[in-house]
Amino acid sequence: MNGHPEFTFTEVFVPDDDVLGGVGNGYELTKEWFTDERLMIAARTTGAAERALGLARDRSVERRQFGSPIADFQLVQGMLADCAVDIAVNRAYTHQVAWEADQPGTDRKTLHAKAAIAKLAASEAAGRVIDRCVQIFGGRGYDRSYPVERLYRELRVDRIWEGTSEIQRLIIAGELVKRGTGVLQMPTP
Ligand SMILES: Cc1cc2nc3c(=O)[nH]c(=O)nc-3n(C[C@H](O)[C@H](O)[C@H](O)COP(=O)(O)OP(=O)(O)OC[C@H]3O[C@@H](n4cnc5c(N)ncnc54)[C@H](O)[C@@H]3O)c2cc1C
Repeated sequence: MNGHPEFTFTEVFVPDDDVLGGVGNGYELTKEWFTDERLMIAARTTGAAERALGLARDRSVERRQFGSPIADFQLVQGMLADCAVDIAVNRAYTHQVAWEADQPGTDRKTLHAKAAIAKLAASEAAGRVIDRCVQIFGGRGYDRSYPVERLYRELRVDRIWEGTSEIQRLIIAGELVKRGTGVLQMPTP
């Protein structure tokens, strides 16, 4: 089956005041919600990634091995830097698309694909960030009494719900094929 399933109810009365989005426009309403929710996931995963990086940064400064804080080891520094890059670029892109969503006259179809880009990029980036942060914590990263362990489990679902990463790729590719590279344009204030 392609697309979303439709359910039809018979012998159900809905008062006019309780109709959301207009009769026959349910799918459009759903797409609006997807755009909002995918942006919220992008924001939430970026925030969670920042929390994890803060914890890993503090841990790397405090934890000593071989006579030095592990933050002195360049392989650990590389993980910290890659986390910072993942967070910074996704925060900027999420802000950009959220701003566009608030502008009157924004093309909703392109916006739908941009929200898919934000959700895909931020949730995948947060997955990379939390994986590195668990690594920086070493064995404690696997221990339930440390918050990075919980963040590792909780961030995993963000690559699945509200459309999996694979479905986001289909949305982005569909927009590119149908309407070209407009999805990459970024209007500025
Ligand atoms: C904790 C939790 C809460 C949830 N809350 C809600 C909710 O409130 N409301 C709601 O509606 N749903 C909710 N969901 C459902 C969620 O949106 C789905 O789990 C998600 O969309 C994936 O669908 P699925 O589980 O049926 O996986 P499947 O569709 O069986 O997918 C399995 C795998 O196949 C891949 N796949 C499937 N189709 C394609 C394709 N065409 N091309 C390429 N790859 C494909 C998927 O990407 C995935 O990797 C929730 C899920 C979880 C885990």
